[in-house]
Amino acid sequence: MKVKNIKGKIDYPLLKQNIDIELKDEDMENMEEILNNIHDIVMKDTPPILDKKRICKSCAYYDLCFI
Ligand code: SF4
Repeated sequence: MKVKNIKGKIDYPLLKQNIDIELKDEDMENMEEILNNIHDIVMKDTPPILDKKRICKSCAYYDLCFI
C-alpha cells in the first residue's frame, strides 16, 4: 500500500520561519536516484575527490569533510 498526501512543516527557529512541505511523486523518484548514487559512493574503495565550494564554510558537515 502506497502512502499518499504526506505533508510536514520545517521549522527554522533562529530564522523564525516555517515552511510547509509536501512529498510528491517526483520527490520519490529523486530520492530513489539519490539513494542509488549514495549506494554507489559507499561501495567504492576510495571516497570521491573533495570539491570545496563556497557553501562548504557554512555547511554543518564541514568538520567531516575538511578536518
Ligand atoms: S558536505 Fe558540506 S562541507 Fe562537505 S563538500 Fe558538501 S557542502 Fe562542502
